[in-house]
Amino acid sequence: MPYIQPFDPWKSSLCTCPPKYSLNPYTGCGHRCLYCYATSFIKDFYKPRPKKDFLKIVERDLRKLPENSLISLSNSSDPYQPLESTYRYTRKFLELLAEKNYKILIITKSDLILRDLDLLKRLRCAVSITITSKTLTSKLEPGAPSYEKRLQAIKALSEAGIPVSVRLDPIIHGLNEKEILEILEEISPYVKHITASTYKAKPDSLKRLNDAFPEKRAFWEELYLKEGKRLGNAIYLKDKIRYELINPLYKKAKEYKISFATCREALKMFENPQKCDGSFLIP
Ligand code: SF4
Repeated sequence: MPYIQPFDPWKSSLCTCPPKYSLNPYTGCGHRCLYCYATSFIKDFYKPRPKKDFLKIVERDLRKLPENSLISLSNSSDPYQPLESTYRYTRKFLELLAEKNYKILIITKSDLILRDLDLLKRLRCAVSITITSKTLTSKLEPGAPSYEKRLQAIKALSEAGIPVSVRLDPIIHGLNEKEILEILEEISPYVKHITASTYKAKPDSLKRLNDAFPEKRAFWEELYLKEGKRLGNAIYLKDKIRYELINPLYKKAKEYKISFATCREALKMFENPQKCDGSFLIP
């Protein structure tokens, strides 16, 4: 089975991304975010492991990939999760691309990406750093680098001339919506694009959040399990609530003249098709 695969082969109507390929050098993720959606479909997700024969298989996959394709790392794991310090699979993959004409979108929460600045400067790439909170990182994302380290990475990438976007998500109602606005102010000088989205509940991630924040349990269960609606394979907050959570970010991004999009929200007023993932920034 190829490791570089078409992203969203089901062509979900919720997804507004441009056509792209997806690659996960690791199965599972050591960042262990409570809200992670991938735990619902990948076994032992919080016990990450490197992909078997990774280099051999991606070299073979690349031979079949059309020139100029967009490859996104990663959509169901983090390419710079702790295992990358040991295995360096993401770095090895980037080295393979040095002489090739592909577009690379890297999505990560880790400042480990700065180790590979030398390579990133030589590739056609853009980086998307995900931030969910300033103060709750160790509880929400216990294996991931702190807010300060991510901010440092954003600044360093931007100073090195790498186009940077930030994913401000998931917005978890009652938990981080105020902080996320502050974060947008702080990162605004360094980023060219923002992608925002609200938390979409799945049974396992909602249980983890409820266990970590028992004082919010009744609130979230009311909003998701009683009033929420099913879209695709997750439970969404009502449209009105999601609009009210996203609109302040949309307005602030507009004020700062930063491009803005949402991810899988199905709220037409915020949609920015083909630009949502920040890959349009790739030179
Ligand atoms: S970094 Fe992404 S893939 Fe890894 S646990 Fe967090 S949400 Fe899941």
